[in-house]
Amino acid sequence: MGSTVIAPPPHTLIEVKGEAAFPVRRIYCVGRNYADHAREMGADPDREPPFFFTKPRDAAGNGTEIPYPPATDDLHHEVELVLALKSGGADIPLSRALDHVYGAAVGVDLTRRDLQADAKKAGRPWDTAKGFDFSAPMGPITPGEAPSRGAIRLSVDDALRQTGDLADMIWSSAEIIAALSTLFTLEAGDLIFTGTPAGVGPLARGERVRAEIEGLEPAEFVVI
Ligand code: MN
Repeated sequence: MGSTVIAPPPHTLIEVKGEAAFPVRRIYCVGRNYADHAREMGADPDREPPFFFTKPRDAAGNGTEIPYPPATDDLHHEVELVLALKSGGADIPLSRALDHVYGAAVGVDLTRRDLQADAKKAGRPWDTAKGFDFSAPMGPITPGEAPSRGAIRLSVDDALRQTGDLADMIWSSAEIIAALSTLFTLEAGDLIFTGTPAGVGPLARGERVRAEIEGLEPAEFVVI
C-alpha cells in the first residue's frame, strides 16, 4: 500500500506558543471533575466519581469563529484545562503520569445540553451531545508543566459566567492520566479535557467567549 483511494484526511493541528504546531491524535474528556459542577448537574460528587468520554480529533481547533451547531437550542460552554501529551502508555503509574505532559491549554467543551439530557434520560451514548463539529475550541498550547492551581474562568460578552480554581479538581492531572491509561493506551498527540467548574450555561449566536486559566494563553471565539 502507499497510495490511498481518497485524499487522506488533514491533520488536526493546535497552535503552540512560540513553537511548531501540536498534532492531535485523540481527544479524551473527564466528566464531573469539580464538585460544584457535579452538583449543578444534579449529581452527588461524594457518591459518583468522575468518568470519561471522547470527542473526535477534528472537533479541536483554534478557530476564532465557531458555528452554532445544528439540532440544538441549548449550546452550553464548559471551560476546561486541557493536557497535551508528548508520550503515553498503558497502566501509567501515578508517580510518572506528569512525565507524559507536553504542555497545557485552555479549552471549551461545547455541549448540546438538550441532546445530553435526552441521552441521559434514555440511557443512550453522549456522542451527539459532545462530539459534534467544532465542539472543542482551544487556545494555544503552552509547553511545560500543566498548572495544578490557579483561577479558571469563562466570560461571555465580558460577563463572568464560570469561575473556579484548578486546585478544586476532584481528580488531579496526574490521577486523570493514570486512570485513563488503565482504559486506553495513551499516545503522543492525545488531548485530555479535565472537566469544568460550576456556572455552565447557554451560548447564543453573536456572543463572544473568553476562557482563561492563570498562566496559560486564553481561548477566544465568537459564536456565529
Ligand atoms: Mn466537560
